[in-house]
Parts: sequence; structure tokens; C-alpha cells
Amino acid sequence: MGDSLHDQFAHVPERISGLVDLAYNLWWSWNPEARILFKQVNQQAWKASVHNPVRMLREIPAEFLNRAAENPAYLHRYDIVMRRFNRYMTANGTWFSQEFPDHPALPIAYFSAEYGLHHSLPFYAGGLGFLAGDHLKEASDLGLPMVAVGFMYAEGYLHQHINPDGWQESITEPVDRTAAPITRVRDAAGEDLVVRVPHIDPPIYVSVWKVQVGKVPLYLLDTDIPHNDPQNRCISSRLYTGDLEQRLRQEIVLGIGGRKVLHALGIEYAAVHLNEGHPAFALLERIRERVERGMDFDAALRAVQATSIFTTHTPVPAGHDVFPVDLIDRYFKTYYPALGIERTRFLQLGVHPENPGAGFNMTAFALRASAHHNGVSRANGTVTRQMWNCLWPGLPETTVPIDHVTNGVHLPTWLNHRVKDLYDRYIGPTSPDWLSEHDDPMVWELIDEIPDDELWKIHTHLKGKLINRIRERQRIKWAAHSGGASNPAAEGAFLNPSVLTIGFARRFSTYKRAHLVFEDLDRLKRILNNPWCPVQIVFAGKAHPNDNEGKRVLQKIYRYAQQPEFGGRIAFVEDYGEQVAQYLVHGVDVWLNNPLPPMEASGTSGMKASLNGVLNLSILDGWWIEGYNGRNGWAFGDEAAPCKEQNAVDATAIYDILETEVVPLYYNRSIDDIPHGWVKMMKESIKSNAPRFSSRRMVKEYVIRYYPALLKSAGAECARTPTAAKPWPPTWKPRVQGRAGEGSK
Ligand SMILES: *Cc1c(COP(=O)(O)O)cnc(C)c1O
Repeated sequence: MGDSLHDQFAHVPERISGLVDLAYNLWWSWNPEARILFKQVNQQAWKASVHNPVRMLREIPAEFLNRAAENPAYLHRYDIVMRRFNRYMTANGTWFSQEFPDHPALPIAYFSAEYGLHHSLPFYAGGLGFLAGDHLKEASDLGLPMVAVGFMYAEGYLHQHINPDGWQESITEPVDRTAAPITRVRDAAGEDLVVRVPHIDPPIYVSVWKVQVGKVPLYLLDTDIPHNDPQNRCISSRLYTGDLEQRLRQEIVLGIGGRKVLHALGIEYAAVHLNEGHPAFALLERIRERVERGMDFDAALRAVQATSIFTTHTPVPAGHDVFPVDLIDRYFKTYYPALGIERTRFLQLGVHPENPGAGFNMTAFALRASAHHNGVSRANGTVTRQMWNCLWPGLPETTVPIDHVTNGVHLPTWLNHRVKDLYDRYIGPTSPDWLSEHDDPMVWELIDEIPDDELWKIHTHLKGKLINRIRERQRIKWAAHSGGASNPAAEGAFLNPSVLTIGFARRFSTYKRAHLVFEDLDRLKRILNNPWCPVQIVFAGKAHPNDNEGKRVLQKIYRYAQQPEFGGRIAFVEDYGEQVAQYLVHGVDVWLNNPLPPMEASGTSGMKASLNGVLNLSILDGWWIEGYNGRNGWAFGDEAAPCKEQNAVDATAIYDILETEVVPLYYNRSIDDIPHGWVKMMKESIKSNAPRFSSRRMVKEYVIRYYPALLKSAGAECARTPTAAKPWPPTWKPRVQGRAGEGSK
């Protein structure tokens, strides 16, 4: 951390200045004791900062900080947390160092176009981003050496406002760089680091920000600097622009620029992990560097293949980026010669064999330029092999070299802290290290020891919190419009905490079929308005700004929510993001998921819900095919072939399950008002899903199954061409030397 940052927080008393270090390391966000440390400085300020410690420390009056610095009880807690933090950052005895004591001292470089880490860093659109964010957090927890590359989107992703007519409006709010947990990366001379994207003409320059994710540094590229002409300055403005040329420029910057930035920082790495095809040009740049060092193209390609893993998520051809040849020519004309190959050879790398005229296909290229590939669930692996069999024309489909690693979620991030306390109380006495062993199913058998009333009480509390929060938002919005233009009913004013509550929240992509439960309006009304056993549904999610179809679906739902016939039992919550997601996956009773199979590559929000005892009602697609065991939630959609009436068939399945299973189980209360059958299912859901669908299991699987081969190839190449590799991890020094852990005096 630079001294200039230190100066900016001069009002933080020296005694507790470690709070600044903590605020700039997202470790705080998945460690509740660290979060509480910020909250305890001043609860109002914490709330006003929207749970963003950097903002809070900037804006809070010094008197509150001074008071904390003089409060012995606070200092005690501060010292304990800081000691844990420092130990975490410097620890040697991690899972990775124990399992792989002889690994080469070089990190894996992870590339992704989006990262979902925390709502103060709005650099994500959805699941792909959270997968990347959770991967980094887990790599840090496991002690896996990793560096990551992504974008500093100046405008983040859109903020969603729903107008009184139910139409989604995008509010663009520039990311306040001084209030986000990011620091400028500077060069040796102390100037802002600026890197030119090599061999790309017209030239593009990038500057760099850093986010510290525990032990893993994430470097974010930013083109909004004076070195660039105006059309290049806005390359990193926002996620997934609709403009194809701008999108190509983004992917050039992410892949080629990203590789160059790591080089400029002196960071050598053993292998590359690509999260989806957007950053695939990174492999190109790795090839070019080898060619520059004197290898011929084919040898360079083989070396890069052997040290690259590509994770693909997209189950339909239309979902992949394909760039027309004239665009590729425009940007790569000086790049072809630098690779030592002809233009045609280059273009062949991106050809889709079944559609050779379409242009340069990023997924086809990524598959060709890496030796290790995987889909993100068992079913997605099968679909991906089918889809890409054409690249291995001689092979039967089952032997196409694309495997799968089922996604998982970072448990400490998505497990509510009260639920965690409960697990601590009942798992902890027998298995004190349960949190670090949480991918071991045996640990979770102890869930059965939790008394039903305790689990139910916490669930009820979280549900109350969710509904209070929705209503409070609605109250504020209503008051701001002086009671005029808002729609209290549609936005949750009539939600009732004692009613069975279904949550549906995800991106409003058409294939997710958010409107599916509205197939039969009369039947739905009967279910919701049942006077003895009512049901309510909370929706949230953003449509992509260019996706009018998605916006129309959203509007349809919003309008239903406004209709009195639905009794105020449908609510739409604006501006779905990390924070709203946390409330929802902790607080609803049932998580509904009904995409059109096989479109959901994995889906992760249902995993987040299940950790917290929320039950999944899901179509058999993506992760749920592996997760569902007949006792841990509800499944439908395993009928034979997809048919024309697919929506009607699937909606009927949902109504049937609701009426005959979900609703009766929920309202079947014993004298203590606890639905014991329901709680039993909650426990079964937690036990069966938490260990298997955690990112700990996932990252370990990547490491065990792929990394030894990757590292071996890297080692072999290293031995042939010794480079001035830097040791890993870089030594991390706490800024406040010797302070933390001394104890309060
Ligand atoms: C987890 C998450 C997602 C991904 O959810 P899916 O079920 O995979 O669609 C999207 N957005 C947010 C805010 C999330 O937290």
C-alpha cells in the first residue's frame, strides 16, 4: 500500500490504523469478526457507507474513530482480529503448501472479464463474475498461488430503476474510485503504471488498479487515461458492450494487455486459467512472446497449450463471441507477422468447423490454444462435448477432451453469520476446524444435532430481516415521491413474514424464464391467495441494457405484481446485486429455478441458498441434476424430450409440486408452531449440498486434476529457458509493524 494512501487516512488514529489495511483487503468481507470491527466504530456510519469500509473510513468524523481508539473493549477486539488477519496473510501451513510441497514457486494467472466480489466493486453482471470472485477468495483461503486480471469498469454495471410502468431504466453511476477498495498501481518511478498493448494498431494504453482479495492480487485494467484517443478511453467503460468492434477492443485489452501488464509488473506465472472465452487472446500473447524469444510458432503453441486451462460456460453456439474477419484484420495486421505465421493460419485458429465463414470464434480459439478444457457441471460437460465434437472430428463424442468441474460457491461469503454461529455451536464442539474442512461431507452429518427450533428461529429471523428491508426500501422510495409515482404493492409493501416465501432472482435472460409461473394465471392466483396457506413470490434481477425482450418479461411481471388480483403477494425488488442477493439467499423459504434446459450451465444462486437452509425447487438442469437426492428439495423437468408446450408442462409441474408438497409441508405445524418436516428437509439440504457445492471442493478439484500437469509442463519449459522468475508469494508486510497482537494496554 502506497504512502499516499496512508496520508489520505491521516485522521485514522495510529493505534487503529490497521483498519485501513483491512478496508483495502476484501478478507474483511468474508470474515464476520472483521466486518463487525467496522460496524462497531459507528453503526450509522457503517450503514450510510452501504457496508463499504473504505467509504466509511473516508467519510466518518474523526471523533468516532478517536473514541474507538480509546475504548479498551474495542481495542481488544481490534488486536485479535488484526492478529488473525496478519497470520492469515503470512501463513505457511495452508492446504496447498501441505499437499504440494514441491510445487514451482509460481502462481496461476486467472483471467476473467468480470468479477463479483462485493457490491462496492460493481464489476459483474451475474454468475460468471461471482464464480470468478469466489474462485479467487477460495484460492486465497487454500494458499494456492494466484494472480488475477480483469477490468476496472468506470461505470460498473447498470443500476436498475423500474419506472411506474414497470420498464427497466438504467442509471449509470460512475464508480467512485476513491471509495472503492482499489489502489493505483505505480511503476518503479512512482508514476501511475501505463502499459501499451503490444503490436496492436492503432495503439491502446492501459493503466492498472489493484484489489487485494486476501492473498490474491487482482489487477484491473483501465483505459480511461489521456494517452488514449476518446474511442479507446471508453473501452473499459462498461461490461459487455453491444458494439462488436468495441467488444473486440475490450478482449484485446483484457487478454493481450492483461498479459503485458503482468509482464510489466515482473510477475511470472506457471499457467493460465481462462474463465470463459473473453480473455482468450492472453494465450495469443503468450505464444507471441515465445516466438519473440526464438521458438517457432508450433512449438510455442504447444508450450502454451500445455500450460493453459480453459473453462467454458456457454451451452449454445449463439452465446460465443465471433468477430468478423475484417475487424480482426483491422487490429491484428501487425500481430500476424509477430507470430511468425501467415494471416490465413492465424484466422484458422478461430474457425468454427461447422460455420467457417462466420469469423474468428473465441471459444474455438481458446479450445485450440489450451490442452485442458472443462465445462462447469456434469450436464454442461456433456453438452459442451457435443457442441465441440467438430473440433475433434475423429473422436466419438464421449471421448472429446472436454471434462467438467462442477461450480461451487465460497462458503464464508455466502453463509449468513448467524447461521454460521449456529453451525459453530453444534458442529464446532466435535469438529473445531469444520470451517476449513467444510468440503468434507462427514463434518456436515453433525447438522442433525441442531434442535429444530433453533434452526427455525434463525431462519425466521432472516426472513423477517429480508422483508423488513424490502419494505423499508419501498417506504423510502414512496416518501421520496411524496406518495406519488411509486408502486408500493409491486415492490413488496404487502409482504408478510408469516407467509411461505419463494425467491426468484437472477439475470433476466430469456432462457431463465422468469415469467414461467405466470403461465396459468388463475391457478397461480389460487395458490397465492389461498386464505389458509398463502404463498408470496419475490422477484429480482436485471435485464441486459440492450435486451428489450428481457425488459419486456420484467415489465410483465411487474404489472402482475401491481394487480390487486394477485393480492400484493408478488413483489419485484429493484437493482439486484451482491447485497440484495445476500438478503434473498438467506431469507426466503424456497429458491425457484426454472431455466430452459440445457441452458443453465451450472447456476450458483441455488447453492448459496442451500447453505443457509433455503430449499431449492428447481428444474433438473445444471448443478441440480447432481445436487437433488429426493430428500433435499424438489425437482421437475425430467420428462422425455423437450416439446412445443414446454412452458406449460414445466409450469404445471411447479404448480403441482407447490400444491401437493411445498405448501402442505410448510404449513404443517406442530403445537410449537414449527414445521418439523420442513426443518428436516432444510437440514438434509444443508448437509448434502454445502460440502459438494462449495468453491473449496471446486478449487481443490481444479488443483488436483489439472494443476500438476500444468505445473509440470511449466517446470519443464522453465528448465529449458530460465527466466528471472520472482518468488511467490511476494512477502507481505503489515503496515503497522508489531502492533497487532500486542494486546491492549
Ligand atoms: C450468485 C449470483 C448470480 C448467479 O446466479 P445464477 O443462479 O447462477 O443465475 C447472479 N447475480 C448475483 C448478484 C449473484 O449473487
